[in-house]
Amino acid sequence: MKTMIFKPTYWLKSVLAIDEEFLKMNRVRALVLDMDNTLSMHGDPAAEDGVAEWLDKMRSLGINMRVVSNNTKKRVAPLAAKLGLPFTANGAKPLTFGVNRAVREMGVPKSETLVVGDQIFTDVMAGNLAGIRTVLVEPFRLEKTWTFRLKRKVESLVFHRNYDDLL
Ligand SMILES: [Mg+2]
Repeated sequence: MKTMIFKPTYWLKSVLAIDEEFLKMNRVRALVLDMDNTLSMHGDPAAEDGVAEWLDKMRSLGINMRVVSNNTKKRVAPLAAKLGLPFTANGAKPLTFGVNRAVREMGVPKSETLVVGDQIFTDVMAGNLAGIRTVLVEPFRLEKTWTFRLKRKVESLVFHRNYDDLL
């Protein structure tokens, strides 16, 4: 079978959509997490709403997690510490060494691990090259732009839907 190097295995709205059922159904015990636009907005010192609670839920399910970010240690360390996550900075995705190291350190087989991130050319490629399933999430920053908000507003007016509980 031809390798689809740009193709994610799963495509989800955000990390928050990764729940117990998804993990069980797909036999997942470990997550290699991107940081910028996956756990927080790019450069934001705080995680997005719900992320800390989601991490606690993952921990309670026994899921191993590690951040692999292409960003610098200066950027990654403070938020990783706040979230209680071990990390690799300067991860150089789509190269595989950062991801491979994370998997080794978590001690979970690649077959039970997912690489999770918002970028095809870094996160998804790194996972595919390392032979690990991937989850592509929509970057948080998209939801913060005025055009996105306007689009949601128009959608809710047109379809009479309340999107507040989706955000
Ligand atoms: Mg990212």
